[in-house]
Amino acid sequence: MRAVQVPRANGPFELLERDVPEPQPGWVRIKVEACGVCHSDSLVKEGLWPGIQYPRVPGHEVIGVVDAVGEGVRPWTHGQRVGVGWHGGNCGYCDHCRRGEFFACTVSLLTTGISFDGGYAEYMVAPAEALALVPNELSSVDGAPLMCAGVTTFNALRNSGARGGDTVAVLGIGGLGHLGVQYAAKMGFNTVAIARGKDKEAFARQLGAHHYVDSRESNPAAELNKLGGARVVIATVTNAEAMAAVIGGLAPNGVLMVIGAAGPLSVDPILLITGCRSVKGWYSGTSIDSQDTLEFSVSADVHSMNEAFPLERAAEAYERMMSGKARFRVVLDISNQ
Ligand SMILES: [Zn+2]
Ligand SMILES: [Zn+2]
Repeated sequence: MRAVQVPRANGPFELLERDVPEPQPGWVRIKVEACGVCHSDSLVKEGLWPGIQYPRVPGHEVIGVVDAVGEGVRPWTHGQRVGVGWHGGNCGYCDHCRRGEFFACTVSLLTTGISFDGGYAEYMVAPAEALALVPNELSSVDGAPLMCAGVTTFNALRNSGARGGDTVAVLGIGGLGHLGVQYAAKMGFNTVAIARGKDKEAFARQLGAHHYVDSRESNPAAELNKLGGARVVIATVTNAEAMAAVIGGLAPNGVLMVIGAAGPLSVDPILLITGCRSVKGWYSGTSIDSQDTLEFSVSADVHSMNEAFPLERAAEAYERMMSGKARFRVVLDISNQ
């Protein structure tokens, strides 16, 4: 099979022939059809993840078909279309797993494309618990980014405490935010998009935003307060100052949900105290969260806007993603060759 690997930290992507992997007990082999290229792949490329073993094939936004099933796997069978996301597996018996907090597993927390080889390849193997069933209506290229960018925004929104009709703002309308605005509107929230520049307003409204705040021309906290304050702001940007600037626009008991990786965030405690406001983070989700994301995206007509590249142009696809200029997600289309 063909695979694209990172040979060492900061090494170049290498396209090479590798043996098709065999699934160990409890794992399945997937014939990969598409794999999204995510900013977190830079953790592998640049060696920013402690303990990573090279060479490593990155990729944690995978859609494909079950091709072989290891011993003891239930209920997955040959031929099913499945997705694999960031959460690649957990032990199931440590204290956190026993509380259902699988993302915090202390025994064997696996991350796809980091702990084991990911989807920049024609085949990969993954633990059965990492699989999400893919609806037939969803093409592999369309579905791939939903396995990370999609589930991260969808799951943060549905776990934010906001209820239908509440005012929910999405800060940033890039790779995560363009999905976040669509999900928020389709979940029935009074949806506010916050971005820099007047030129993004028409697009934000096309995605379903009921209100648009240009954070370059106006104070986003003041604008949110004119709407009665936001019950939730989902912060998708990678700029901590932009996050800090919206906290004053949270309604009483409002929550800033942070899903964008930024530098240190400084928060005025007075804003937290006087409004009982809070700041919390949200991890992406486990395989069933991904499955819910895929199903909701089909039923609510939510789409990731993607730029597709063939597998052999993975290096170029990665550069395009890192440039920040892609509209909006970059995907390797692996089946169409
Ligand atoms: Zn990702
Ligand atoms: Zn565990």
